[in-house]
Amino acid sequence: MRYSILTLCLAAALAAGCSRDAAPPADTANKDAAAVTASGQKAVAEVDEYSYSEPHKVRIEDLALELKVDFDKKELGGSATYTLDWTDPKATQLILDTRDITVEKVVGERADGKWEDLTFALADKDKVLGNKLTIESPQRNARIRVTYHTSPEASGLQWLTPEMTQGKKSPFMFSQSQQIHARSWVPLQDTPRVRFTYTAHVTSPQDTMVLMSADNDPKAARDGDYSFKMPQKIPSYLLAIAAGDLAFQPISDRAGVWAEPGMVKKAADEFADTDKMMQTAERLYGPYRWERYDILVLPPSFPYGGMENPRLTFATPTVIVGDKSLVSLVAHELAHSWSGNLVTFSTPKDSWLNEGFTSYVENRIVEDLYGKEAADMEKVISRNELAAEYKELDPKLQVLALRPGTLSDPDGASSSTVYTKGAWFLQFLEERYGREAFDPFLKEYFNHFAFQSIPTTKFIEYAKANLLAKYPGKVTEAELDQWIYEPGVPDSAPKTVSPRFDAVDAARKAWLDTGTLPAGDATAKWSTQEWVHFLDGMPQVLKPEQLAALDQAFHFTGTPNGEIAQRWYPLAVRSGYTQANAAAAEFISRVGRRKLVMPTYSELVKTPAGLKLAEDTFAKARAGYHPITTQSVEETIAKAKQPAKS
Ligand SMILES: [Zn+2]
Repeated sequence: MRYSILTLCLAAALAAGCSRDAAPPADTANKDAAAVTASGQKAVAEVDEYSYSEPHKVRIEDLALELKVDFDKKELGGSATYTLDWTDPKATQLILDTRDITVEKVVGERADGKWEDLTFALADKDKVLGNKLTIESPQRNARIRVTYHTSPEASGLQWLTPEMTQGKKSPFMFSQSQQIHARSWVPLQDTPRVRFTYTAHVTSPQDTMVLMSADNDPKAARDGDYSFKMPQKIPSYLLAIAAGDLAFQPISDRAGVWAEPGMVKKAADEFADTDKMMQTAERLYGPYRWERYDILVLPPSFPYGGMENPRLTFATPTVIVGDKSLVSLVAHELAHSWSGNLVTFSTPKDSWLNEGFTSYVENRIVEDLYGKEAADMEKVISRNELAAEYKELDPKLQVLALRPGTLSDPDGASSSTVYTKGAWFLQFLEERYGREAFDPFLKEYFNHFAFQSIPTTKFIEYAKANLLAKYPGKVTEAELDQWIYEPGVPDSAPKTVSPRFDAVDAARKAWLDTGTLPAGDATAKWSTQEWVHFLDGMPQVLKPEQLAALDQAFHFTGTPNGEIAQRWYPLAVRSGYTQANAAAAEFISRVGRRKLVMPTYSELVKTPAGLKLAEDTFAKARAGYHPITTQSVEETIAKAKQPAKS
């Protein structure tokens, strides 16, 4: 997934860690403690704290969905049939994860082919994990079917009224299953450790197009009756569905764009390089194994930048800015076709194996297509963000392989760690071994673990055998451990410099020192990344008249570019530049992408007047927000109001 538009890595990632197990002591300051940490990690690496399921006893091999999309009730209803592999001879229970799902009936297939009723118990809801569903299966049925329907509040689904779409004619629905939201629309063993194939038969209103993370047919008749097949095994977080007024435009014979009719051509133009990106990734890391690669452009309320649903990336429309400057998002989601979708992390604690590898691969694709300067600028932006975040971030969240109990909710990890530090570590390995050794290593790693889910310890084992031992004297085991198990960024981290950013730094300094704005012929050539860097380097607070001068020259207030907006409005709010308030409020109501709106909300709530504006804006905007964004805004506002109450 990508939170960030720009640099795969700006993101606010999701990682993992629930507070059920006590964390081991966090002292990583000395070598002995680090060694204990490493081995302690190994012992618990395979435990997924965020799932009730017991895949070591019985495992879902295949899922067959039969679903009806009901826009009036805002629900999906139907059945899920699981083909099971009972590996523990004593096991007689199937335990599934659910959240806010109503279970109507559970049946199991007997040896004679007849179906029998099974007893089940749905536990009270745990705030993070949802409702544990325990199904008694004394006969260890080869197939079990759950008949159910979802709640209108399902955390993994968003239902949009026609007014919230671009075309304003038809309702829209889409899912976001990562990290643990699939359980709110399908009862599942909702852990990346379990991979399964699936089929689905979905009915909907006749004029609605339904798509899934499966074999979508660009030529499918729009008749309200759709069948899907995903023959490759995927983890639950890659289960995805969307329904709405959608049209298709091809990019190549294996890639294309789905979007609302008014958006589809613009989107296909913006993403025209998609097949070239696929070719680059294939040259570096082996064949694309998922047949088609299409991109679904969602309404602006999509809470993330993109989601790597296999064969059908879900993408925010906020990256469609007309100049391809933000298409590294597609490089990121496409890269997941190798890192994550092919080689999956086995628990959310290991999500750096997913996002760190993907951010690294994304950057290699960007370098190949758009040049080293573009790739380096993205690295610098994300690493500056990491440096800022690490000034205050709990050291426990600065380690790549998170320890149990680090986080209460897997949606709450540090994106700088998971995405940026993860990618930085791989760049460190690349520099030490050289691309001639490291590229084939990574290609073979993806091949070796293809369609498996692995913990960090497996990667370490593989790297020790295929890099450290094979090319001795380049990287020590202590260096490996430091990157993976210790907080902060090691001194051995490769430095990246960007001459284009140096020029931006000089322009900013000249303006701050003397009030001289950069020349128009220079800024006319600036990319989004350069504008972002220009704003990122500003002091915390400017004088309102300085902001007015910038606005007059560069028209930041009202910018259609979300990456600029998410930096400009917080600076304006902090600086008391109230002229930007109306445009800031308009931006955070129109866009629901969490990464873009949260910086402005976080600044607004710091003063009474700002808090009022934040609350008023949220009251109007929340109907169009995704539950994930709604939750973040609610928490920010509630936290701001706390001291006043006590
Ligand atoms: Zn990602």
